[in-house]
Amino acid sequence: MADQVRIIGDPALEPIRQKVLAGQRLSLEDGRALYATRDLFTLGELANLVRERRWGRKAFYNVNRHINYTNYCVLQCRFCGFARPFGRPATDGYVRSVEEIAALARQAAQRGATEVHIVGGLHPKLPFSYYTDLCRAIRQECPRLHIKAFTAVEIVHFARLPPRRSIAEVLSALREAGLDSLPGGGAEIFDQRVHRAAFKNKIGAQHWFDVHRVAHELGIPSNATMLYGHIESVEERLTHLLELRQHQDVSLRERRAAFQCFVPLPFIPHGTPLAHLPGPTGLDDLRTMAVARLMLDNFPHIKAFWVMHSPKLAQVALNWGVDDFDGTVVWYDITKAQAGGGNRQQLTVPQIRRLIAGAGCQPVERDSLYHELETCGGAKQ
Ligand code: SF4
Repeated sequence: MADQVRIIGDPALEPIRQKVLAGQRLSLEDGRALYATRDLFTLGELANLVRERRWGRKAFYNVNRHINYTNYCVLQCRFCGFARPFGRPATDGYVRSVEEIAALARQAAQRGATEVHIVGGLHPKLPFSYYTDLCRAIRQECPRLHIKAFTAVEIVHFARLPPRRSIAEVLSALREAGLDSLPGGGAEIFDQRVHRAAFKNKIGAQHWFDVHRVAHELGIPSNATMLYGHIESVEERLTHLLELRQHQDVSLRERRAAFQCFVPLPFIPHGTPLAHLPGPTGLDDLRTMAVARLMLDNFPHIKAFWVMHSPKLAQVALNWGVDDFDGTVVWYDITKAQAGGGNRQQLTVPQIRRLIAGAGCQPVERDSLYHELETCGGAKQ
């Protein structure tokens, strides 16, 4: 495979190709060249080479269920079409009860789900006990269901609820209640200029990394995202990737857990205060996934979250550095406004396996920690 990678159109990629073939780490300058090149096919081929070194032709998916517990939020990030302000009339604002969430989890487990993925807005009134009760109730209902819940933003919000707690206390209490891992949301773009302009009241890079550092020290695995295609520059995307890579180096060397997966999330303008922006194109999506695979040499997995990329583009991305297709999802409120009001966003296992096989890959069901599962090839959900 390695010798088959040939530079077709862009000599600037030749030194990068040599580095990739030698397994050497790429620099910021290399990242700039990868973003600048018009030779998207060689970029994809290099990313696919790295992906195949790790995983061959396997492409992972899981059977999961997303649950959003509330869309009320004390913040108003400019790229968000999900949050509803608390205290003002909102016909579509909601808070799900612990019992309701436990019932959704039970229903998902009965249909073959191995994971619930739970995130929500920053509700000003819910006490910390709501979140621990939520984990405990799911754990009691479904002892084997993996609970992946709460972005770093939510964890910091919980720590500020009275009485104030440290990040370690919050994470320890949640883990004791049943939490298994953290999703990677809320990272957005780490750069301070973007932070000030697009989400200045939300936590910045330092807090985000603090939460993931403590999680890794406690042995709680986590994931990482990047919301791209709004007001950030290519340079700011690359710096974001390099900061993640640096954190991962330390976690792998010194901590009890690390990032499992990187998930590039395309900004979807519709329904947000930044609706005048065009958002990323399909080629920008592909390029970003490929660049992520090449730059993040210490991340095991790169995911195409099909709900935001579309199933078809996620399928194409499986040959542009991506090895994980995410899961069945079932319900995803975060981008429902952008999706034209529809929030039931589900693929069945046979549909996922067909898309993966159509990309020339071998579909492999995984659990939340990327252990391969025996699968019957499509009886679930
Ligand atoms: S992105 Fe998250 S923190 Fe920001 S307004 Fe939306 S729900 Fe709230």
